[in-house]
Amino acid sequence: MTDFQYKKGDDGIATITWDCPEKSMNVMTFDGLAELDRHVDAALADDGVKGVIITSGKKDFAGGMDLNVLAGLRDQVKGNPAEGIFNGIMQMHTLLRKIELGGMDPKTQKGGKPFVAALPGTAAGIGFELPLACHRIIVADNPKAKLGLPEILVGLFPGAGGATRVPRKIGLMAAAPILMEGKMLAPAKMKAAGLIDDVVPADTLIAAAKEWINAAKDADLVKPWDAKGYKMPGGAPYTPSGLPMFVGASVMILAKTQGVYPAAKALLAAIYEGALVPFETALKIEARWFTKVMNTPSTAAMIRSLFVNKQALEKGAVRPDGVADQSVRKVGVLGAGMMGAGIGYVSALAGIEVVLIDATQDAADRGKAHAAGILDEGIKRKKVTDAKKAEVLARITAATDYAKLAGCDLIVEAVFEDPGVKAEVTKKADAVIPAECIFATNTSTLPITSLASASARPEQFIGIHFFSPVHKMNLVEIIKGAKTGNRAVAKALDFVRQIRKTPIVVNDARFFYANRCIIPYVNEGVMMVQQGVAPALIENAAKLVGMPLGPLQLSDETSIDLGVKIAKATKAALGNDYKNDEADEVLFKLFDEGRYGRKTNGGFYAYDDKGKRTGLWSGLAANWPQKAEQPSLEDVKMRLMMSQSLEAVRALEDGVLEDIREGDVGAVLGWGFAPWSGGPFSWLDILGAKQAVAIADHLSKTYGERFAAPALLREMAKKSETFYGRFGKQDKAAA
Ligand code: NAD
Repeated sequence: MTDFQYKKGDDGIATITWDCPEKSMNVMTFDGLAELDRHVDAALADDGVKGVIITSGKKDFAGGMDLNVLAGLRDQVKGNPAEGIFNGIMQMHTLLRKIELGGMDPKTQKGGKPFVAALPGTAAGIGFELPLACHRIIVADNPKAKLGLPEILVGLFPGAGGATRVPRKIGLMAAAPILMEGKMLAPAKMKAAGLIDDVVPADTLIAAAKEWINAAKDADLVKPWDAKGYKMPGGAPYTPSGLPMFVGASVMILAKTQGVYPAAKALLAAIYEGALVPFETALKIEARWFTKVMNTPSTAAMIRSLFVNKQALEKGAVRPDGVADQSVRKVGVLGAGMMGAGIGYVSALAGIEVVLIDATQDAADRGKAHAAGILDEGIKRKKVTDAKKAEVLARITAATDYAKLAGCDLIVEAVFEDPGVKAEVTKKADAVIPAECIFATNTSTLPITSLASASARPEQFIGIHFFSPVHKMNLVEIIKGAKTGNRAVAKALDFVRQIRKTPIVVNDARFFYANRCIIPYVNEGVMMVQQGVAPALIENAAKLVGMPLGPLQLSDETSIDLGVKIAKATKAALGNDYKNDEADEVLFKLFDEGRYGRKTNGGFYAYDDKGKRTGLWSGLAANWPQKAEQPSLEDVKMRLMMSQSLEAVRALEDGVLEDIREGDVGAVLGWGFAPWSGGPFSWLDILGAKQAVAIADHLSKTYGERFAAPALLREMAKKSETFYGRFGKQDKAAA
């Protein structure tokens, strides 16, 4: 198999075309790199070649490095993973540097051969770092193209020269959004940022590349950092203009990452240290930091959850075997409220025909108008065209008449959270839908098995639990009732694939998986308020462990009246087993005062007239005076992390979760569980079961039985096991 083809033209211009067989997107592997290396050598050695175009045989240039392959570098040198990684990375640097120098005489900087990257579309990661080593980057004016270096988003940084070349080319300030936030930009914006040279009509891409090669002079091939007197744009670290920038960047990174994401800090270190030394040394420094990051448990866990396992789940890792394709053609959505309207919108966007039913035509129309509103936002941001809006809306029929559900192959019910109302609409739909139609409910709290009893075909009944707002949240929790059959599971998974979200499949139990874990987190925070812990300590501790929102802010965002509703329903269901009176005292008090959170401009936080948070509400201290002696920051952090993680372990013990990959991916995507850790199971593995049990023992002795270590964790501690060691499936990347 060859990933790169080499062709020498009569005009003396060689073209290296990247075209990985049987893949829709090019990805780099070490075999591919070796091939590219051979072609570059061939071009440099051939006197008949005056220049080289590197392009793609596909509509895009490349998606980046195959992270599985990258992770595999650890095993290249037996017993020394760091050496394996460092050698592999240096191999990339050597090749890219060879391209960059183009065979020129190192003394005179003359006689080199021009290399032009001609990119037809998207170029990401090493797919953009390879062009950055070329002498010219020309990109097709492709409206779908996105260029950039998104590595930081999976816990890495651009380690094939990106961290060294980008700041040297455009300065630290301009490089920050590209390197530190992983922003992917359209060609025109990337040109404005100064990282690419030209944007041309797609059909003139190769001609433009040839034209540049034919006109290129020796001086055009010398990169700024290889030229005499080079100065870093905006200033190197020890210059009056550079120093404040580097100091500012450190502060910015710390504020953004709270120190828990090792890649961001390593990236800045690589840039800073690299800026003080010659280019070749800077590449070595970059490789050393990259090796260090690759070897931190956090990075390995992030790659495993956010890349390898997320993709595996999206590709059907847990789909039942032997069930034919269940792609949805026509979906009926019952209830056109906040969730139903969102579900209708994402389905129509994916090309599925939608019937959106509500009790009144007005309500159904409002649901469709919600979809129109989201599309209008897209038009404002130039992401959606008027034609696209019309096409998507044309797929949505808003109605009250259940007869319109005829021909649907999937129903998603999203009416009020009331078993009676749900049973009624289930029966009404059952009367008109085809025999093979699968019926799904979007309930967030009601058991699937009991809702299924309203259906004439419980084996075709399933939970498909979306998160709000539907068009933004990527996780979908699929819940199997006691009688749910394989075809229903496959249908739900195929539907989730069509709407391009990430599925997890869990079994039926109170709050399923995500809510089961996030509710104890919120409760723990609220309980601490009642116990006189400083609210700022609670919120900051959450941030310091990498939670995107503190429990009090999260409570305000999801609304306190919802919290009260859930508390009442849970109490009714659990009776004497319900133990949450301390948190409830606070929630009910806020509720009674009409402080429902963001939606009433008042909750745990105070808000100004425009709805902006202005700080924690002073009434908290008046109602629940802060104790003179506060718990340690470490204890507060651990209470917040363990409240979620121990619940995840219990969900695994109870069989609600069948696969820890789903537990980790679901946690990070569903409720933002400290992404740096890769999820609760990865986090417990990073701690080690022994340490986790010791923390749980301390917390349960000091703060209450809810922290008692689950038997499974205790057993694992005894046997020195890890979750991924014991339960992991195909998770080579982090092995
Ligand atoms: P909502 O109140 O915004 O919408 C419910 C809709 O159902 C309303 O438009 C209502 O008119 C309609 N409806 C009620 N009875 C009906 C009937 N007999 N026939 C047809 N339509 C009827 O509620 P929502 O927030 O969209 O929640 C809907 C479901 O989704 C609930 O089961 C809820 O638990 C679940 N859910 C909600 C969230 C969330 O964050 N809001 C998240 C996940 C799941």
